[in-house]
Amino acid sequence: MPTFSFAEPVHFHNYLLNIRQKNSEDIFASRYKAQCNRIVFHGWEIVDYKIDTGLGDGYNITATISHVSLGRRTVRCKYLVGADGGQSTVRQLAGIDMEGNETTYRWVRIDGRMKTNMPEPNLVFGSLETKTHGNVLWAKLDRDAYRIGFALTPSLQAKYPNGLTQEDVVQEAADCLKPFTLEIERVDWWTQYNVKQKVAATLQKDDYILLAGDAGHTHSSVFAQGMNAGVHDATNLVWKLAGTLKGWYKPGTLATYATERRAAALKLISIDKLAAAAVSGDVPPEYQRAGLTAEDALHSILETNMSFNIGLGVSYEESILNQAPTATTIFPGTRSPDVLLHAPGPLVPVRLHSITHRDNNGRWSLLVFAGCHHVTRQKFAELREKVTTPGARLASWNHLLNISTIMMGAVGSAWDAFDGPALGKLYFDTESLAHDRYGVYPDHGAIVVVRPDGILAFAAGLDQLENVEEFFDKICA
Ligand SMILES: Cc1cc2nc3c(=O)[nH]c(=O)nc-3n(C[C@H](O)[C@H](O)[C@H](O)COP(=O)(O)OP(=O)(O)OC[C@H]3O[C@@H](n4cnc5c(N)ncnc54)[C@H](O)[C@@H]3O)c2cc1C
Repeated sequence: MPTFSFAEPVHFHNYLLNIRQKNSEDIFASRYKAQCNRIVFHGWEIVDYKIDTGLGDGYNITATISHVSLGRRTVRCKYLVGADGGQSTVRQLAGIDMEGNETTYRWVRIDGRMKTNMPEPNLVFGSLETKTHGNVLWAKLDRDAYRIGFALTPSLQAKYPNGLTQEDVVQEAADCLKPFTLEIERVDWWTQYNVKQKVAATLQKDDYILLAGDAGHTHSSVFAQGMNAGVHDATNLVWKLAGTLKGWYKPGTLATYATERRAAALKLISIDKLAAAAVSGDVPPEYQRAGLTAEDALHSILETNMSFNIGLGVSYEESILNQAPTATTIFPGTRSPDVLLHAPGPLVPVRLHSITHRDNNGRWSLLVFAGCHHVTRQKFAELREKVTTPGARLASWNHLLNISTIMMGAVGSAWDAFDGPALGKLYFDTESLAHDRYGVYPDHGAIVVVRPDGILAFAAGLDQLENVEEFFDKICA
């Protein structure tokens, strides 16, 4: 039985960075410009849209947009993605309700240049338990800035019945850090807001309207999940939508966006309910029974949900995209493991994820794990024969597949191992880590299907190509 190995990390980014959203957005925008030669249009507001499927050219949506100085225009499109924030106009025009609660929790956040005698202010995150301001957040941000955040507890809300001014929040920030000193030398930004924990009733309406980001789900900022969840939405949606527009997929493939991401949003909100209460100084009932303080409860909630919060543990239920494997021990719907491999020749290793994401063009990865070639040689040759025979079913999906062969050990060339070429590019799994992490028996080998967003989809034996073909039959047009 293959075993999980700790000889290598399961990811390759062991650091934390707090980049303020306005700076992240600049980075995204400049990458968008550099990579796609496109820009984000600022200042245009969607005010209405209509769907007419009778126009016959597929551009079923006519949206009306408005600009303060350029006036109104109409834009025709095939799909409309409402990524227009918590107050989403698209969501309201589509008549999609938000389901959930507005809590009584009210929080303050201030970014700026600050001086303190608190120990270790440059640790990326700090959390201070107080009797007066809930659980105080301290974060080292980009450039010379820090963020401090505190809860407006019932007594603070009573102290400021009309809300706080900037002067008030600066004073309360200094108070919440006592006995340490805090001097706020420059305020870059501050906010006070109510925590809302809501999810849209659906993320897809009338086939062509989709919601993403805060338009589809809102919650507190306790575990810094808002933009992260929006990026997960985008990663999940973009390849399904692009593939649908190209005519690659059946309608059911795009429909999985709404089911997968709404379930993830509900999970996020269930965690947020516990964490937002603990940060505000309330112990959630299930933690009261265990006799924990709010601080201990917060710690426990953070530890339990760490993998989901950092994004690596986000997973999706079984569906047409995530099907029970007929070989290996992979868990479809979870993130594909990353390991280091070697291409023939260079000593510099290559990340498996850089192979599966090599073009970032919405293609699926078919990873042919060849196992121990002394044993699998015959099976591999038979698979190659089936795949390369003219008219092979798999060949009809060549435009959406990247095929790679991963074999245990290393040889001079694929011909030495398989009496012929590899399927796609050949990589060496010299330490067998990839075979271990993907639960592939060395004597059997396997075909592992990875979605364009890096999620494991399916796996079958080297002699079960028809299972892989059935998998793609269910999702491809
Ligand atoms: C205090 C605070 C701290 C946070 N900290 C974090 C954190 O550390 N990490 C994290 O991941 N998230 C954090 N978040 C959450 C994060 O800011 C949001 O989840 C994220 O901004 C949502 O992105 P979005 O693109 O969906 O919506 P938004 O950022 O709200 O963007 C929506 C865009 O749509 C535009 N728009 C609105 N209406 C229309 C219209 N009618 N037509 C056209 N355009 C329109 C808006 O102008 C805006 O540009 C925090 C939130 C708060 C309040």
